[in-house]
Amino acid sequence: MPLELQTEFRCTEMAMLTANHLSDQSRARVILMLGAPGSGKGTQSSWLSKQFGIPRLSTGEILRTEAKRNTPAGFRLRQILATGALVDDDMVCAVVGARLQREKPENGLILDGFPRTVQQACFLDSLLADLGLPRPTVIDLEISKEGLLRRLAGRRQCAVCGSVYNLISRPSRRGSRCETDGGALVQRDDDTEGVILHRMEEYEAFSAPLIDYYKTANYHRVTADRDVNAIAKDLLSALSMPARFTLSSAA
Ligand code: AMP
Repeated sequence: MPLELQTEFRCTEMAMLTANHLSDQSRARVILMLGAPGSGKGTQSSWLSKQFGIPRLSTGEILRTEAKRNTPAGFRLRQILATGALVDDDMVCAVVGARLQREKPENGLILDGFPRTVQQACFLDSLLADLGLPRPTVIDLEISKEGLLRRLAGRRQCAVCGSVYNLISRPSRRGSRCETDGGALVQRDDDTEGVILHRMEEYEAFSAPLIDYYKTANYHRVTADRDVNAIAKDLLSALSMPARFTLSSAA
């Protein structure tokens, strides 16, 4: 079924003040999607990106693209991604900083998978202030370990366009081919059980302090162990938007 639109690092006080001030002036919005691997960040953030007409930036996607390069950095990234460990903060912050300075998102953006550590969150606060963007609205997708394993083990992605399917909750009508372009549906290298467990451990180790960091921000926890439409509805309500559309499929 296709996605159908029916429907104790603390930032410098200065960065926080500047961003607060700007948020009053600007109509741009920055949305952060937090959540363990497989919690549905990609599906929901892609959909929200269309709803709000603002770009989505997924650090996982950028890093996977970089990892394909035949360079020492590409080789090193391939090794890290294959184990499910987090890529080091300096590298991820450099990638995000360069991208946002180059393609300044005037109307805001949705960040999928960034920040993942408190150090990255600190960096992001300064970057947003630099870019004249407001402080973020934080969405934390919460899901059980069993739910994650079920989703990730069944996840398949089109090798050509990157569309995401799930063998159980969202199979392709064209079997092992993408409904859009007929590309082969493949399993991500880091969606195997051993790597999934390591990615979850990494997430658990770093997420608690990150959530603490954002608890005084515009923070919303949404239960993600549910149908995607129900999750999408809660997201819209958290983001104070009328529910004009529904999602018809899950990944
Ligand atoms: P994702 O597609 O968000 O599940 O990310 C896939 C992998 O990319 C993760 O398991 C990490 O190895 C790496 N990654 C993505 N975003 C970050 C980040 N913000 N910090 C460190 N590593 C990241």
